Amino acid sequence: MNKPLIDWYDINKKNMPWRNSKDPYRIWISEVMLQQTQVNTVIPYYNNWIKIFPTVKSVALAQIDDILKLWEGLGYYRRAHNIKKSCDIMINRLNGAIPNDETFKGLPGVGDYIYAAVMSIAFNQKIPVIDGNVKRVGSRLWETNFSAPQSLKVLNEKLLHHISLDRPGCFNQAIMDLGREVCKPQNPICEKCPISKFCKAFKNNTILNYPVKKKLKKTPLFDVVVGYIQNQQQKFIITKRPKEKMLGGLWELPGGKRESGESLKNSLIREIKEELSIDIKVDKKIGVIQHSYSHMKIRLHGYNCRIKSGKIKLNASDKLEWINFSDINKYSFPTASHKLFKEMEKN
Ligand code: SF4
Repeated sequence: MNKPLIDWYDINKKNMPWRNSKDPYRIWISEVMLQQTQVNTVIPYYNNWIKIFPTVKSVALAQIDDILKLWEGLGYYRRAHNIKKSCDIMINRLNGAIPNDETFKGLPGVGDYIYAAVMSIAFNQKIPVIDGNVKRVGSRLWETNFSAPQSLKVLNEKLLHHISLDRPGCFNQAIMDLGREVCKPQNPICEKCPISKFCKAFKNNTILNYPVKKKLKKTPLFDVVVGYIQNQQQKFIITKRPKEKMLGGLWELPGGKRESGESLKNSLIREIKEELSIDIKVDKKIGVIQHSYSHMKIRLHGYNCRIKSGKIKLNASDKLEWINFSDINKYSFPTASHKLFKEMEKN
């Protein structure tokens, strides 16, 4: 099976910037970015990253704020923190390079997928990559349900049996590309598939049964309310989220989730008191936007506010700054904050 698959890949592979290199650092960065993110979104971020941080050392020397600014909008910011931590470790303890053995797995954020991708593509090691595309192709090829974590061992063994001995990295990329371009979740293009003659679901006409569908959980929706707290010089407060939290290290307007039964304004007054120890007067609404994360949706409401009384004390964030609206691009904010800022510009 690997010969027709790799022949297909050689003819059809997309020209992606990381594919011109065997440099393990570049392959690692691309694979980290590609986790949870579409190829077309990743390409400009990857090109920009490599221009500014071409080596492990350049990341180790950089400030996390500059790294987060570059990552802004790509989401899953923990990935950026983990790249920084891993580069620091490589420079301080591992001769400044990506190790070509299991030591690599000990670095922050390096799980089975990243490990297999970098080892196979950069170092030609025969380690199968398993991602969502590979699971789908595999489940159809072998008419097997690979959704349970314990079944992945079986998938790994099957792939190991077929992986190309001389081009394991290309085999892995080929099967991922096949999943993305041909063996799509809906309407796979079996007539263009180079491995259809090995595919049990194709042969038995059971494609619609694979992959076995999981029951989808309903995504919860939360109301989040934030304050645009201005002083007399028209500067407003932004706070920095703690590193270990979701969106850690990014800046935001202070506020938080509305609790059940609470009005938006009361919720904001309570949140600001809890976060900054001050009492505020809530004025006009500045806008509302919707944003989706992988596990939840939020409706983000913003209000103009002024400080009524109290002395600011930081109870829930790492830092606070008073900034001008024209300075927002100097800081990294989550996409939801940018959407709210856009609303404010409109009004
Ligand atoms: Fe997927 Fe169809 Fe190819 Fe089977 S024959 S692997 S279902 S594209």
